[in-house]
Amino acid sequence: MRLLIYLILGYLIYRVVRTVVKQASQQKVRKTDAPPLQADDVMIQDPLCGIYFARRDGVALTHEGRTLYFCSESCKEKFLAKYTRTD
Ligand SMILES: [Zn+2]
Repeated sequence: MRLLIYLILGYLIYRVVRTVVKQASQQKVRKTDAPPLQADDVMIQDPLCGIYFARRDGVALTHEGRTLYFCSESCKEKFLAKYTRTD
């Protein structure tokens, strides 16, 4: 009878430990799951005005198969007006 109590106790402790470990590993996964910021922190140059800025702050434009980034929407529009024909 005593053995059974120890078995139940051991099982309960096992369950608690398992739950704690599971939660800890889930938190770890969540932390590393965050989007990699480094790639977006790359400094790039505006092809129109020449200003340097972080890519994540830029305005993206696909032009002739290349992705260009501008410091602002107005630079993008000026670039488009300059390099795309409106026949
Ligand atoms: Zn600009």
